[in-house]
Amino acid sequence: MSDSRHATRLDLAGLHAAEEYLPFHRATLGEAEEQAVIDVLRSGWITRGQVTAEFEQVFAERVGAAYAVGLNSCTAALHLSLLAAGAGPGTEVITTPYTFAATANSIVHTGARPVFADIDPATLNIDPEQVANRVTDDTVGMIPVHFGGAPCDMKRLGAIADEHRLTIIEDAAHALGAEYMGERIGSISPFTAFSFYATKNITTGEGGMLTTDDAALAERVRRLSLHGMSADAWKRYSREGHSYYEVIEPGFKYNMFDIQAALGQAQLRREEEMRRRRGEIAAIYDSHFADMPRLSLLTADPADIHAHHLYVVLLDLPSLSVTRDQVAEAMETLNIGVSVHFRSLHLHPYYRERFGIAPQDFPYALRASESALSLPVYPSMTDEDTAMAASILTGILERFSI
Ligand SMILES: *Cc1c(COP(=O)(O)O)cnc(C)c1O
Repeated sequence: MSDSRHATRLDLAGLHAAEEYLPFHRATLGEAEEQAVIDVLRSGWITRGQVTAEFEQVFAERVGAAYAVGLNSCTAALHLSLLAAGAGPGTEVITTPYTFAATANSIVHTGARPVFADIDPATLNIDPEQVANRVTDDTVGMIPVHFGGAPCDMKRLGAIADEHRLTIIEDAAHALGAEYMGERIGSISPFTAFSFYATKNITTGEGGMLTTDDAALAERVRRLSLHGMSADAWKRYSREGHSYYEVIEPGFKYNMFDIQAALGQAQLRREEEMRRRRGEIAAIYDSHFADMPRLSLLTADPADIHAHHLYVVLLDLPSLSVTRDQVAEAMETLNIGVSVHFRSLHLHPYYRERFGIAPQDFPYALRASESALSLPVYPSMTDEDTAMAASILTGILERFSI
């Protein structure tokens, strides 16, 4: 909210405020997580080992993939998938500008050119027709992002990928637990990247996972995550593994380790319950906002399972005398934590200047960047917290309506 810090003070007198500050996010961590970490600390093996291998196995089963590779972030999962998909200098990868920096940065790090395609204004997910328009002879892949936890149109994107022989890498940082037309996210494309960052659907503090059905790709990503060496560290130091290894290619230091994996296993056991609760909170917001004229809600296909990572409203700015940043600041003043997902990457200095992009080149991503507001949605919120956050927002919008 730094943009709005120096804006004129809004008159909020008489508006209802929450008695206690409701944070935008609070991770759900309890005794199970504490015990899991203590067990690893006391085991004498804290780096990548058996606990990570177990987490990979249960995670792969959970999302319906043959293989899962534990990594230290979703960013690492995106970077290594891109390398395995052949992205590099002289190639292009298509993605949405309406995402977190990691999605496009990871493309830049391979030497490939990130090519943006605008979003569908109703879902804020990448628009397949825009993707189709941007394919060239140099395109090797695409990274769709399941914004907020609502699956992208994978059928149409899959058809474009098949037609042009492109590799799809799904950025599922928001989408653990989501399903597209009955198929679990993580089981659909050659690669899917998940995040366990502190605010995500499950957390290991920092962490990520790559899923794939291809044994050779899984092996390549695993090798790249540990310096390009031929064997896992834990195999190297175990009795069977000797201490012999070979460097096959210059890899990275991207592996998950057992303290993370222990947290991840404990969190994964609660994933379904936490998602159900976020869904209930989203339904309370939905019913509150159903007839509100000064905002609109995102649409999602009811046939899909939504992971409800974010709850985003789009403010109808022409009917308001304030900006989204001023509304966000008013929410904070009235004790409701809010956030903004996202300020489109094409508006950021690096992407704007390096690739010569103008704001209007992606009009829907621009409009969402100015009007989207994320409200709190996490399992430890009560129904009352939710209703209060909703009514404080509607109070602000009524006060500043034109
Ligand atoms: C959080 C996030 C990432 C990065 O996840 P890390 O695990 O922090 O690397 C990537 N893409 C999107 C859309 C995200 O929200």
